[in-house]
Amino acid sequence: MHIAIIGAGIIGVTTAYELAEGGHAVTVFERHSSVAEEASFANAGIVAPGFVAPWRAPHWLRLFWSRSPAASRLTWPLSSADLTWLRRQRSAGMPAMRALGQAAMQRLATYSRERLHQITERLDYTFDRTEGILILLRTARNRERAQPTLVRLRDAGASCREISADEARQIEPALHPNTPLAGAIHVPDGEAGNCRQFAVIARDAAEQKGAQFVFNTSVIGIDPSYPASLWIAGETQPRGFDAVVLCTGAAASELLAPLGLRLPLASVYGYSISAPVDEPALAPRAAVFDGRIAIARLGQRVRVAGLAEIGGRHDNASTRAHALPAWAEQRLYRTLTDWFPAAARLTNGVQVWRGARPTLPDGPPALGASGLPGLWLNLGHGAHGWCMACGAARIVADLLEGHAPEIDLQGLEPERWR
Ligand SMILES: Cc1cc2nc3c(=O)[nH]c(=O)nc-3n(C[C@H](O)[C@H](O)[C@H](O)COP(=O)(O)OP(=O)(O)OC[C@H]3O[C@@H](n4cnc5c(N)ncnc54)[C@H](O)[C@@H]3O)c2cc1C
Repeated sequence: MHIAIIGAGIIGVTTAYELAEGGHAVTVFERHSSVAEEASFANAGIVAPGFVAPWRAPHWLRLFWSRSPAASRLTWPLSSADLTWLRRQRSAGMPAMRALGQAAMQRLATYSRERLHQITERLDYTFDRTEGILILLRTARNRERAQPTLVRLRDAGASCREISADEARQIEPALHPNTPLAGAIHVPDGEAGNCRQFAVIARDAAEQKGAQFVFNTSVIGIDPSYPASLWIAGETQPRGFDAVVLCTGAAASELLAPLGLRLPLASVYGYSISAPVDEPALAPRAAVFDGRIAIARLGQRVRVAGLAEIGGRHDNASTRAHALPAWAEQRLYRTLTDWFPAAARLTNGVQVWRGARPTLPDGPPALGASGLPGLWLNLGHGAHGWCMACGAARIVADLLEGHAPEIDLQGLEPERWR
């Protein structure tokens, strides 16, 4: 089959790899000049199925009463689409639906990590990655409150245990001795890896199998009479394919709405700072979490990433911005200096980034047939797209080829939003 993929983030690139590996003629259209330029550019890099859960937005009343410093924020103005999304998320947050969403996400993430390992072994490339994650617990109260996290991790099959502050400092000797630490949860099978580097590797591998990447090219429309035809900016005729897979992340609605398909995707913004390691002995060895913020060692850099914001005056894209909102900047720098004050050089060479997590109200992505002939979806991976990419790509390739996927798709089908 001749298959077009729209979008070369981590989701589009891994989908291209799987389809090219299956012998299809694959063409990937990407509006930027390279892969992983938007949400996949500088994320926290965590691959840990036990950590995967639907994001819970703050109540909209938080617009007027904001507990400072909150890690999840609603920012004025909220669009009507944001408000509808928040309402739908409240109903999706009912315990039964939330449990279904969480189970689907964990199933996919577990499968995906296996695929990631298989592909990494098969390709024999290396990328910056570390093993083991510590969840830092500053106070005795944090320890108590972490008990449900331990249960959730165990239920998800993660090997994890609660450890003392001394044990945590043995695992991460550079943790600042003056910052209070009551204990930690150690997740030895959690990982952190550089998502963008892996996307570059997967692109190379897909190209070796014959996939073509067409950069600086925007798809401006999908032909409603024949949805496997694409209108490309600057061209006068649509290009026809046997199938099209939409991997456009947060931008999907622009192409879906004219077709009458409404997928309630919200952009949940997050932020990161990456800085060169100054003195390796004073930097983290792997990844740690403090609340909703991750500090990860990625090769010669330390990355601090996290926070979640919905609304505000953003365009829809992710950017390598030159300035973060003050509240985000403060949180990220404070978390880094609390735990690893001398880890990184913060005077020059610091990369500051904002990304839009493409998020559906119930949490899991939408994988499979769109309901229109020839048009397939691999969208809405939210805060866990890197963790889910390789599995989601294999599932969409299986469905497109008419094979049964290797995991149960309950809770992952696009039909749930039709
Ligand atoms: C701060 C932060 C931390 C995160 N941490 C983690 C983490 O630790 N672990 C994890 O698993 N996930 C994490 N994520 C989430 C993860 O980064 C995303 O889920 C993932 O990158 C989404 O990938 P994507 O390919 O769907 O989207 P994108 O990477 O945004 O790719 C979509 C691509 O489609 C292109 N495109 C869109 N429309 C068009 C068009 N019309 N024509 C041509 N091209 C088009 C865009 O240019 C873009 O390149 C984090 C996200 C953020 C913001």
